Amino acid sequence: MAKYHIEVDPNLCTGCGVCPAVCADHFEMYDDPNGMPKAKCTHPDIDSVSCQKEAADSCPNGAIKVTENAG
Ligand code: SF4
Repeated sequence: MAKYHIEVDPNLCTGCGVCPAVCADHFEMYDDPNGMPKAKCTHPDIDSVSCQKEAADSCPNGAIKVTENAG
């Protein structure tokens, strides 16, 4: 199991575009089925984090969760 799991809650994401600006290697925008812009993490399971935490801290809606897996 990868050490970290990174998730964007689409219910909280307002598509502001900050996370791909802060961390382009790991976040990208897409349009949901309603045509609303949302962000997604391109590598949700990964062994080390760099700018993902900065992106989570920068998200104005607290939509990005970085979880460290036990073990
Ligand atoms: S910073 Fe937060 S609200 Fe903005 S696009 Fe990323 S996840 Fe969505």
